[in-house]
Amino acid sequence: MRILVVEDDINLNRQLADALKESGYVVDQAFDGEEGHYLGDTEPYDAVILDIGLPVMDGITVVEKWRANSKGMPVLMLTARDRWSDKVSGIDAGADDYVAKPFHVEEVLARVRALIRRAAGHSSSEIVCGPVRLDTKASKATVDGVTLKLTSHEFRLLSYLMHHMGTVVSRTELVEHMYDQDFDRDSNTIEVFVGRLRKKLGVDLIETVRGLGYRMQAPNDAT
Ligand code: CA
Repeated sequence: MRILVVEDDINLNRQLADALKESGYVVDQAFDGEEGHYLGDTEPYDAVILDIGLPVMDGITVVEKWRANSKGMPVLMLTARDRWSDKVSGIDAGADDYVAKPFHVEEVLARVRALIRRAAGHSSSEIVCGPVRLDTKASKATVDGVTLKLTSHEFRLLSYLMHHMGTVVSRTELVEHMYDQDFDRDSNTIEVFVGRLRKKLGVDLIETVRGLGYRMQAPNDAT
């Protein structure tokens, strides 16, 4: 899962980015509205954390422009505590949720998790695929109750496939959601990660769809 953080307060931006990375997300950072708008317009994100008061272009304008251009990724706005009108404007402009400053990073993380889950059609914090359970809160996965030892790349891969269970996900899409914009991306490495993940899962739940990509689904869901 790949997140964009748009916040001009350098320390706060770093704090959010660090916490997100620790939770297994890959993070891109922007420090003004124009840069943030450009990234959100051109790169695929699973969620965006967007400050409302930004230099060059404010957060409301940024989210309005994305929505006008049919960019539908979940957006969590950061608003000033006492400005209820900012919250209303943010939601009206197309934001999905907001957190008022000052906030606990844990609250932001919980809201981001919920936004990503809901966008993928999951209402619970645990996503289940046959014997595999993905705990989005603890950023861990189990098979038949046994915790899997996964590298950060393997976890991101499993998390993306499980959030999009039942649908075919292309290699390109996986690359775009597993690495940040500066990473030297190579879609061939995805095959290697899928191979390792299959071995660790020990159950055959990730299907290779020739020429298209991969699909994860529980055995009884197979068509
Ligand atoms: Ca600000």
